[in-house]
Amino acid sequence: MSKKVAVVTGANKGIGLAIVRELCKAKFTGDVILTARNEKLGNEAVKMLKSEGFEVAYHHLDICDQGSAKQLSNFLQKTYGGLDVLINNAGMAFKNDATEPFGEQAEVTMRTNFWGTLWVCHALLPLLRPNARVVNVSSFVSKKALDTCSPQLQAKFRDTELSEEELCLLMGQFVIAAQQGNHQAQGWPNTAYGTTKIGVTVLSRIQAHILTKTRAADGILLNACCPGWVRTDMAGSKAPKSPEEGAQTPTYLALLPVGAKEPHGQLVWDKTVQQW
Ligand code: NDP
Repeated sequence: MSKKVAVVTGANKGIGLAIVRELCKAKFTGDVILTARNEKLGNEAVKMLKSEGFEVAYHHLDICDQGSAKQLSNFLQKTYGGLDVLINNAGMAFKNDATEPFGEQAEVTMRTNFWGTLWVCHALLPLLRPNARVVNVSSFVSKKALDTCSPQLQAKFRDTELSEEELCLLMGQFVIAAQQGNHQAQGWPNTAYGTTKIGVTVLSRIQAHILTKTRAADGILLNACCPGWVRTDMAGSKAPKSPEEGAQTPTYLALLPVGAKEPHGQLVWDKTVQQW
């Protein structure tokens, strides 16, 4: 049987880097691929982990570039014949004092956090082997943002029949409304990052349903998670958790044992399923 392989996106720093380290510490029984969009930063991170005694490989991945995701898919297919663990960690957020217009922030944040994650899933989920684990790093902010949506939008995001196409349309509608300056009048929350993470959490539920329908016998588990509030370049130095602590829930979900039936399609925080 081919060697197992785990892929972590946006792993040159922050929580992604800590997840790679935790997978190695947990003695993941296969290769761990640290991906990054910047080759120099990715290779530096690999060098650092190797100096700590961990065996890790670098592969390029810019999640906003569908060609880049396809190249990674081809590499995994050729080298491993499949994929066992995918952790979609890469993400971005504008700083609170960012001066870009809200519509621009919405478009840019959506492109990375939602569309980028979706494109990586489209490229890599077809490679999943039986008992694979997929973790989409979302945020507790997705739940807070959901609570400030209009009742109509909340109902749509909680509707277990919502399709991926309908979710994509909703995410697009948010960006257009943000660019027109009337997103709040249309019932959207006043947070670009939070809305993109609603997209990631709901996408995870939809993808899990699809896997259950199409690959029922394969034991694949796919979840969204929140790492907690973590000291990284994104969240700043005042956050209470270290990157290592932030990596605990994503790593736990990535290493759910063979035979586990749940969680699946959930938002998990502190290793606990959250009410959506
Ligand atoms: P960082 O800003 O420290 O790291 C983000 C990582 O994502 C970097 O490696 C960055 O690469 C990468 N990235 C961004 N855009 C792309 C792209 N287009 N292609 C590939 N990689 C990309 O953030 P965190 O470690 O804090 O965040 C990791 C995840 O955790 C994110 O999804 C975030 O939303 C989520 N999260 C974080 C929380 C926190 O408190 N820190 C709380 C809740 C969720 P580069 O260095 O090149 O920019």
